[in-house]
Amino acid sequence: MAIRVIKDLMKKNNWKVRQEKQRAYGKHNGYYFTAYWNNYQTIVSVSLPHLDETQKVQILEDLNRHKEELRISDVSLDDGVLTATFKEVLRSLKYDDIIKYLDHASKLFMELKIPETGKCFKCGREEDTESVLYNDIPVSICPYCYEEAKSISKQNEEEYANTKKNYIPGFAGAFIGSIIGSIPWIIASYAGWFAAIFGFVIGKVSLKGYKLTGGKTGKATWWIIMGCTVFGILFAEVVAYTIAVINYYEIPFSMNIIYIIISTPEILRDIAPNFAIGLIMGILGVSSLFKEIRQEFNAAVLRVEKI
Ligand SMILES: [Zn+2]
Repeated sequence: MAIRVIKDLMKKNNWKVRQEKQRAYGKHNGYYFTAYWNNYQTIVSVSLPHLDETQKVQILEDLNRHKEELRISDVSLDDGVLTATFKEVLRSLKYDDIIKYLDHASKLFMELKIPETGKCFKCGREEDTESVLYNDIPVSICPYCYEEAKSISKQNEEEYANTKKNYIPGFAGAFIGSIIGSIPWIIASYAGWFAAIFGFVIGKVSLKGYKLTGGKTGKATWWIIMGCTVFGILFAEVVAYTIAVINYYEIPFSMNIIYIIISTPEILRDIAPNFAIGLIMGILGVSSLFKEIRQEFNAAVLRVEKI
């Protein structure tokens, strides 16, 4: 979703925006909607608790019938959350598209006599409800259900913190991965190519090794993978340099060569730029890790926050 569309939603519709989380939320005809987006799509969700089976069928039927007109690529209704996906690969979603969908959906809800936001989405109470984000979906909740959700969330967090992350086997896998991943770098370097771009491979294979040995993502994962990636890059660079020395002087391999390489400042200065670029590539290679850590946390922990 384009920045302009998001700004329009804020200005014209009074929606709130969390740019860093790529989501916006607000009311439309009394119903609370949330929009999430990434580079390829925008997803619009609305919490519709207490639907009966006929209402569910009617909503899905209607939206599927108007799919093309509303530019929806996918629509689903699970656990009381209606989700419409808008693909943005060929054409990005415009403000008018969003409003068209919100108008259509909210009118449909009214026709089906689905109550507006206001009732507690858990127990149906109408008094003292307030708006919260429940796993990123805006809902109305009563004080009792809010407290209950908070305590479940806290319990989830403790359980998540206590689950085994398999850091040690994960580390072993990441370490072996970083050595295997350094092979393309060494070959490229031997062939006289610009090897540092293969830092990407070292990071990726290291992460793969971590997962193959059963490592789960946790707070320490990032440090383990980065440590192994740095090691893998250093390893690749030293091996490549050693091979170059052996070839150039036509001498047999000995540990002394490695010792000289890592203790001669001139050589290290020579290696440094390559190492730095390799490191940037390595970080790019494992950048998906940030997202994965967050996603795993989100899947394991119920999130409730007041709006
Ligand atoms: Zn309640």
